[in-house]
Amino acid sequence: MIKPDVKPVPISSWREELRTAIRDPKTLSARLKLAPGQASSAAGSDFKLLVPEAFLARIHPRDPGDPLLLQVLPRQDEVGAQPPGFVTDPLGEHGASRVPGVLTKYHGRALLVTTSACAVHCRYCFRRHFPYASDNPRRDGWIRALDAIAADPSIGEVILSGGDPLMLDEADLGLLTRSLATIEHVKRLRIHTRLPVVIPHRVNPELIAWLRSIPLPVTLVMHINHPNEIDTDFAAACSRLRPHVQFMLNQAVLLAGVNDTVTILERLCLKLSDCGILPYYLHLLDHVAGTAHFLVEESRARILIETLRERLPGYLVPRLAREKPGAPAKHVLV
Ligand SMILES: *Cc1c(COP(=O)(O)O)cnc(C)c1O
Ligand code: SF4
Repeated sequence: MIKPDVKPVPISSWREELRTAIRDPKTLSARLKLAPGQASSAAGSDFKLLVPEAFLARIHPRDPGDPLLLQVLPRQDEVGAQPPGFVTDPLGEHGASRVPGVLTKYHGRALLVTTSACAVHCRYCFRRHFPYASDNPRRDGWIRALDAIAADPSIGEVILSGGDPLMLDEADLGLLTRSLATIEHVKRLRIHTRLPVVIPHRVNPELIAWLRSIPLPVTLVMHINHPNEIDTDFAAACSRLRPHVQFMLNQAVLLAGVNDTVTILERLCLKLSDCGILPYYLHLLDHVAGTAHFLVEESRARILIETLRERLPGYLVPRLAREKPGAPAKHVLV
C-alpha cells in the first residue's frame, strides 16, 4: 500500500503552482541539469512547454531519458518533416461538433470541451493542434452546449473534458453541473482529468465540496502513464476523492521510451490499484504531427498486453484501444 500523507491541504495553492510553473526550455534544462540542446526552443514555440513544480519534483535531474521528462520536454523530433500519416487532425475532430464544444461521436455519451487549458503540456497530446479558439464554448457558449445536450434524450452520460475540466474554478464547475443535473435524461457524469496527478493539491476542500454537490454518480478518469507519477501526495489526493465518486479509472497512452515495457506497465497497474484506480484504456498513439518518435507498433503493443495478462489479475489489465474516425466505438484490439 502507498501510505497517504495526512498534511493539511493549503486552499487554492494549486493556482499558485500554475502561476509559477516552468514555461521556458532554458529554465527546465537548468533546473534538471540537462546538457545543452536537449530541450528544443523551436519545438517549444509550436506547442508551449508547461510543467508545474509538483510534476518537476518527480523527474530525476541529469537523466535525459527520465520517463516523466520525456512526456513534457520539447524535442527537435517534433518539428520538421513528418512521417507519412502523421497529420494535425488524425481523428477528424476539428469542426466535427455540430455545436461548438460538444462531441457526440458515441451512442449515449456527449463529450463537453469545457476549457482548452491544461496544467501540463504533454508532448504526445492528440489535441496539440486542436483549434480551441474556434471550437471551445467557454462560459457564455456553455448555454448552447447545454441546450444541445438537453435536446437529445439519447445522451445518458456527459463527459467533462478539455483541455482539463479541473482547470475551471468551482464556481464555473458548479454552474455546469447544476445545469446538467436539471436535464432529466442525463444520469451519469464523467470527468476526464490529469490534474490530480499533475498537481495533487488541486484536490482541495473546495473541489471535494463541489463533487459532493453533484446529484449524479461521478466517474473520474485519470490520465497517468508511468508509475513514477504516483507519489504519496497523489495517493493522499485519491483517498480524499474516493468517498465522493462511483469509480476511479485510468487511461494511459503507450509511449516509446516512457512506458513500453511489461515491467513498467505492470508497476503502473499495481500502483494504480493501490490508489483505488482501475486501469481502463491503454491507448495506441494517435498519428498526430510532431509525435512520431513516441510510436509503438501495434504488434508489439499486443504482445505487451498479452504478457501483462499472464502477470496481473484480469481486472488490472487495461484494454488496448485505438480511436478510429467514424467508428461507433473506440476500437479495442485486446
Ligand atoms: C473517448 C470518447 C468517449 C468515451 O468513450 P468510452 O469508450 O465510453 O470511454 C466519448 N466521446 C468521445 C468524443 C470520445 O473521444
Ligand atoms: S493533459 Fe490531456 S489534453 Fe492536456 S496536454 Fe496532456 S494529454 Fe493533452
